Order: sequence, then C-alpha cells, then structure tokens
Amino acid sequence: MEPYAVYAIRYGSHERTAAQNFIGGDAHEAASNLDYYVWLVTSPDRTLVIDTGFTREEAARRQRRIFQEPAEGLALMGVEAARVEEVVITHMHYDHAGSLGAFPNARFHLQDDEMAYCTGRYMAHEFFGLPFSTEHVVEMVRAVFAKRVAFHRGDEEIAPGVSLHRIGGHTMGIQAVRVWTESGWLVLASDAAHLYANLEDVRPFPIVFNVQEMVDGFTKLRGLAETPAHVIPGHDPLVMSRYPCPKPELEGIVARLDQGRAAETAQGAPPTRARSAVPTPDGGCPSPA
Ligand SMILES: [Zn+2]
Repeated sequence: MEPYAVYAIRYGSHERTAAQNFIGGDAHEAASNLDYYVWLVTSPDRTLVIDTGFTREEAARRQRRIFQEPAEGLALMGVEAARVEEVVITHMHYDHAGSLGAFPNARFHLQDDEMAYCTGRYMAHEFFGLPFSTEHVVEMVRAVFAKRVAFHRGDEEIAPGVSLHRIGGHTMGIQAVRVWTESGWLVLASDAAHLYANLEDVRPFPIVFNVQEMVDGFTKLRGLAETPAHVIPGHDPLVMSRYPCPKPELEGIVARLDQGRAAETAQGAPPTRARSAVPTPDGGCPSPA
C-alpha cells in the first residue's frame, strides 16, 4: 500500500478563551485560540481534500479571521481545486462545508447521518443549527441531485489506505479520516476532537449534539491511530508548531503531518514557528466554531 503525504492547510483563526472550549468552562482565563484547517492527502495516484472550509464572505459574516480561502491554500500546494475529484466533508458545519462551489468536479463523501442531521428537526433549534449555514446545506442538497455525493454509513474504505469513520458526538454524523502514511496510520479527527486538550484530558467541547458519543469518539479515534500522537485535532494551533512546514514560504500556513512531529524529523528542526502570518486578534464573536 502506497503511503500518502498529508498536509494541514491553515486558512483562518479565531481568538477565544479556554472557558469557551470545554463543557463546564475552564479554571484559567488564558486564551485558547482556534485555528481553521483543511487537509490535503496526496499520493502519486490520488489527491483527496478533506473539508472545504469557509469563504471570505462567511468569515466576514461570522467575524472570523481568514488568511486565504481554502482553494487558494490548496493552490499554494500546487493543487487546483477545480480539478479535485474526491472531497471528504467531515461534517456540515460552516467552517468545514463552505466553498463547495470551488470544487465543481468533486464528489463529496458524507455520512448518511450528517445529511439527515443538517436537513432535519434539530436545525430548528438555534443551539444545534447556528454552526450551519443554510446555503452550504442547500448546495449539498443540489449536489445530491447532481449525483455528486457519495454517502457512507459508519466505517468505509474510500481508497486503498484511506477510510472514513463515523464518530458522531459533535454532530450526528461527523466522520474522521484515517490515512496510511510512512509513519503509520494517521487519523484526521476534524471536530471529533477540536484541541489536543479535549482529547487527552477527556474534556468535551461545548458545541455538541451527543456528549456520550463525543467521549466514546475520543477512544475510537485513539484506537484507529498508530499511536495516540497520530490523532490530529481539528482546530488546535499546536498542530502548526508540532509538525514541520514543507517550505519556508508556507510557514504558519502549511504543516506536513505524515512524517512525524517537527522535533522527530531527520533535519531536527526545532518545533518553533514564527507565526508571522498571524494577524492581530479580531473582536471575537458569539457565533460558535
Ligand atoms: Zn470546526
């Protein structure tokens, strides 16, 4: 089985406090920012994109910081979004399922439960519906009728060495992606684990559909991965400092995930990041991640 290269492409960020990232809050007043990512999985034969992020327009509406649109981030890696054929949508929240229109030739891989969730009864409650954008959901419905959605139920392989795993919890049908790499099985958790601290300390994130499934999901994610360190959380800024940058000009924008953490790489690069691309904090927003 050919190993894949896996990249996290950071396209935005949001300043918030630790109390906002854990059910029950947090004893500390410290900042605990969220970064926004899409992920690129490549081999000589295949290119898969995991999630489609949000656009500048959506960022303005939700008062989120955006560095480049996800398609522009992919272009920095030499991938033309319009030519991508396989896109996994981990879940339908606005920061994962926007900019679908930038992928006109893609088939979208989605769990049955997620489509049912984002078009069903819970969307009538603001608590569940706020992180969804109506337009994204409508676009996905259009994609269904255009025969561009591949539905999955539970755990399914979509390519040799790439499988999808329904986790649930954060949303009804959120799925993680497991990828075979030269350092073993890597698991892109997306929002099944927002931050390392949610996962490692079993402190669930407060935007949640089912807390029990979220907590059981932490165990499942670890079980799918080569080691617990092979689980990549969906919004943790530490991903950018723990993993090496593939090219100096992509510092703060792209991290390569499939060859181990920065301190473990052959060149022994220190896990420091200048973060020069990080702009000043924005005003914050009650709208969730
Ligand atoms: Zn998210």
